[in-house]
Order: sequence, then C-alpha cells, then structure tokens
Amino acid sequence: MSTAALNKVQMPFKDYKSEVPVVWCPGCGHHGILNGLYRALADAGVDPTCLVNVSGIGCSSRTPYFVKSYKMHTLHGRAGAVATGVQLARPDLAVVVTGGDGDGFSIGGGHMPHMARKNVNLTYILYDNGIYGLTKGQYSPTSRPELKAYTTPYGGPDEPMNPCLYMLTYGATFVAQAFAGKPKICADLIKQALEHKGFSYVNIFSQCPSFNKIDTIEFYRDLVEEIPAGHDVTDIGAAMALARRPNGKAPMGLLYKEEGKPTLDEKMAGLVQKLGGHPDYDMKKVINLFRP
Ligand code: SF4
Ligand code: MG
Repeated sequence: MSTAALNKVQMPFKDYKSEVPVVWCPGCGHHGILNGLYRALADAGVDPTCLVNVSGIGCSSRTPYFVKSYKMHTLHGRAGAVATGVQLARPDLAVVVTGGDGDGFSIGGGHMPHMARKNVNLTYILYDNGIYGLTKGQYSPTSRPELKAYTTPYGGPDEPMNPCLYMLTYGATFVAQAFAGKPKICADLIKQALEHKGFSYVNIFSQCPSFNKIDTIEFYRDLVEEIPAGHDVTDIGAAMALARRPNGKAPMGLLYKEEGKPTLDEKMAGLVQKLGGHPDYDMKKVINLFRP
C-alpha cells in the first residue's frame, strides 16, 4: 500500500491508540506488534481518517478495535477478500489487514495467493504465533509438529508452512519478517510496508504464552537472525534462499521488494478508461473485454 499520495499528519504514536482497552493476555507478543504498528503509522504520518484496518477472526484480528482508524471486523479468513474490495472501491485510502496464521493461511488460505499475484495495493500484517489463540489452542498451519495442542495431544503430523517463502512464490512485491520482541524492527518494517506501492506482506513471530507452550519468546529470540547488510532486496532468488532458512534461522528484515509493478486498482482503472472513462462502468462490458 502506498501512503505517498495521502495527506500527511504529524501525530505522536500514542494518539493512534483508540479508547478501547487492549484485552490480550499479559505476555502476549501481540502487544509488541501493536506498539510497532502505532509507531509505524506515526512515522509514516498516516491520517487516521484515511486509514481502514480490516481483520478476520482471532486474537490478532481484534487489532482494529485498538487503532484509531475506520475498521471492518469481518468473517473468519475473509479479511483479505474484504480488504481487496475496500481498496478497489476507495484506492485513495490506506488499507491495512491485521490477522493471524490460522485466519490467514488456513481458513483464509484461498485468498492469500491472489492478493499477492494481483498486487493488491494494501499491507497485510500477519501475527504468526503457530496456534489458534482465541479458540483456546488448536494446531495451526505454522505449528511445529512438536506442539501438543488440544487438537493434536500427541503432536502434529505436518511440517509447518513457510509464510515468507509462500508469499515470494506467489509474486508479493514486498515481503518482510520480524519478531514481536523487537518492536522497533517491527515499526521500521511496517512503515516501509505502508509506503510500498503494491501488496506488502509482513510476517511477525509472536509468542502465545497461554496456548503455545513451545514457541516461547526465548524460542523466537533464538530463531530469528537479522538479514545481512549486503542482501539485495531486488533479488528474488536471494530472498527465497534466505526464506528457506538454510542455517535453521528465520531471516528478520526486508527480504524482497519489487517496484513499478502495476497494482490491481491501476489495472482496473485502465479498464474503466478503455470503456470511455465512465466511473459507473457496465460490468457486462468489463466481462466482455476478457472474452476471446
Ligand atoms: Fe495472545 Fe494467546 Fe492470549 Fe490470544 S490467547 S491474547 S494470542 S496470549
Ligand atoms: Mg495464531
């Protein structure tokens, strides 16, 4: 999502907090991500009256309540689809999706590749804690096999998915990864994502001390490793090689950035232009354009 065209405001980061009290458990990593988001919004000068925060269902999907913004708390897994519609209807606004690993990659898994390949001009922040927290501890697509959850009392049969590698594979034009225990890094990467024109994805590891007893704050602190300074963020091969965690460490920082690729709203505006620039274009004419 590009905030470049938006009105800039100067607000202290604390003013991005809404009046709704944050209800997450003490020690939850989501507190660190939320602080990073407040700072990123302040640093990018985002006007809260031009900001739409969309979410699905889950602990992290409560984020819009805590952020001064317009907000849509939608169905489980459907935040990406709704946010795509919001962005197409109002490309003049900043659209941010906040949600979890289960909401995004399991129940909403069908939407993720399409936001990436279509280059929808929005920012997706995924709070990755390897568990369904709100529903009290079920195995998620990013859970490790060692995790004994309510649905997998003997551990799980599957290898966890790799969100950054997935997003790179499907053509996301901005892919970054961070850890909730490093809110300044979270803030810096979220700010860059907000300022990127196109689909920007930020995966943030976040401990759930209530239900994921193995992916602790110490585990994530040891798992992540800052991306070396010489990494070329325009090199998709280098980004994928890092995302594969060759040394067992999860890269933290900006993995990949591609500029200049047309966004979905730009392509749709081009279609409207072909139809004579009428804003209330006839959908039948749009569909006919795709017929052989
Ligand atoms: Fe955070 Fe887990 Fe508590 Fe949800 S259940 S608020 S993810 S610690
Ligand atoms: Mg989760």
